[in-house]
Amino acid sequence: MLACDTCEAWTQFLLYVKDRSSVTAFGNWLAPITVLEHSSDEVTLEIPNVFVKEYILSNYKKDLCAFLPVHADGEPAIKFVVAAQQKKAPAEIQQAPASEENITESKSFDIKLNPNYRFDTFIEGPTNQFVKSAAVGVAARPGLSYNPLFIHGGVGLGKTHLLHSIGYQVLESHKKLRVQCITTEAFINELVDNLRNKSVDRMKRFYRSDVDVLLVDDIQFLQNRLNFEEEFCNTFETLINQKKQIVITSDKPPSQLKLSERMIARMEWGLVAHVGVPELETRVAILQHKAQQKGLDIPNSIAFYIAEHIFNNVRQLEGAVNRLSAHCRLMNLNITEELVEKALREMLQHAPSQKISVEQILKCVAAVFQVRVSDLRGTTRTKEVALPRQVAMYLAWKWINESLAMLGASFGKTHSTILHACKSIEKKISDDETLRRQISMVERSISA
Ligand code: ADP
Ligand code: MG
Repeated sequence: MLACDTCEAWTQFLLYVKDRSSVTAFGNWLAPITVLEHSSDEVTLEIPNVFVKEYILSNYKKDLCAFLPVHADGEPAIKFVVAAQQKKAPAEIQQAPASEENITESKSFDIKLNPNYRFDTFIEGPTNQFVKSAAVGVAARPGLSYNPLFIHGGVGLGKTHLLHSIGYQVLESHKKLRVQCITTEAFINELVDNLRNKSVDRMKRFYRSDVDVLLVDDIQFLQNRLNFEEEFCNTFETLINQKKQIVITSDKPPSQLKLSERMIARMEWGLVAHVGVPELETRVAILQHKAQQKGLDIPNSIAFYIAEHIFNNVRQLEGAVNRLSAHCRLMNLNITEELVEKALREMLQHAPSQKISVEQILKCVAAVFQVRVSDLRGTTRTKEVALPRQVAMYLAWKWINESLAMLGASFGKTHSTILHACKSIEKKISDDETLRRQISMVERSISA
C-alpha cells in the first residue's frame, strides 16, 4: 500500500511539471511512470525503459527534489525499476544463444560497411559539425551517450557515410561489440522471408540478443508498413532497455515521418541531429578531398566554380569529380572552366531564381513570434527577442547559400554569433516540439 502523502507528493509533482512541459513531452515521459513503493526516505518508480530515468533526472531533478524525498548528498531519493525487466522472465531474453547457423543466416542480410565511409574522410563544416560530433560520441561510448541517435537530412548529404563511420569506429575500438548495419528495406525483407519460413522467433532472438550496436539506414521506408513497424518498435525497445546503441538515419525528422506516435516518441528519446547542406567553403573542401583521392588536381578557382553550381547534394559533387577525372584522363586535357562547362553541363545547377533574403526571413520570423523586425535587428537580449533572433539566423544559414561571414554581416553580427545561434537552435529543436512547429510555420510562410 502506498502512503497517501506519497501519492499526493507525486501528483503534486506531476501537476507542477505539467504546466511547464509540452503535451508531448509530458505524455511520453511522465505520464507512463507509476509509483510502486514508498517509504519516508525513498520512492520507487516504475518506468517503461531506462531512458525515462535519464530524461527525468536530467530535466526535472530540481523539481523532483522539491516534491520527493532527498538523499543527504542532495540527490533525489528515487529507485527506478524498468517495467519490461520486471515483467519479462529473464529466461525469455537469455534463452538459447543463437547458433552459428542463425548468425550466418541473419548476417546474410546485413549490409557491408563501405570502407570509404570513415570519420576521417568526412569533411566537417558548420552544417554537419554537430551531427558529426554526436556520431563520434556515440562510437566512443556506445549505449552510453545518446541513445538512439537519430540523424536526418536531405539526400546525398552524408547520413550513410556517418552511419558506417560509427560502425567502423565501434569495431575498431570495442572489439567485443557486435555491430549490425542494415537498411530498413533489408530489415523488412528479412522479416518477410522469416515469416514465410516460420523462423521469425529466430530472427527476433538475433536482433534482440546478438546485436550490441544496431545501425539502421533510411527509416523512412518503414512508413505505411504497419506490421513491420510494430516489430521494429519492439526490437528497438528491447535493445534500448538493454542499453544497446541504436543509430537511425532518415530523410525527415521523426515528427514528420508517417509513423505511429509510439515509434516517433521512441526515436525522439535520444538525440535528433540534422545534417544540413554544406555551405560553399565546405563544398569546396569536400570536392578537393574527393579529387585528391582520385589523384586529380583541380585549381581552386575551378573548385569554387563547380561548388557554386552544385549546391545541394554532396553525392552529385562526387559524381562531378568522377566525370571530370574520366574526361581529363581519356582526352588528356587540363582542367579549365570551359572543360568543366562541357563535361558537367547537365550537372551544373542554377541557383533558384527566387532568392530568399535575410529581410524576408526576418519578416516571417517576426510575424510568427510576434515581435518587431527592428527588435530582431537590435541588441535586446530578453528571451522573447533573443530566441526568434537566433531562429532567424538559423533559417538564414539553412536557406541562404552564403558563408557565415556574409550572413553575419547581414545581421550586423560576427560569424561566430551566427554559428552559435545555429548550434543552439539545432539543439533546442531536437526536444522542443513547440519551437519545431514555430520554425516550420516560418518556413512555410517563407516559401509561400
Ligand atoms: P545520404 O545517406 O545522406 O543520402 P551518403 O552518406 O550516401 O548520403 O553520401 C553521399 C556521398 O557523399 C558519399 O559518397 C559520401 O562519402 C559523400 N559525402 C557526403 N557528405 C560528405 C562529407 N561531409 N565529407 C565527405 N564526403 C561526404
Ligand atoms: Mg543514405
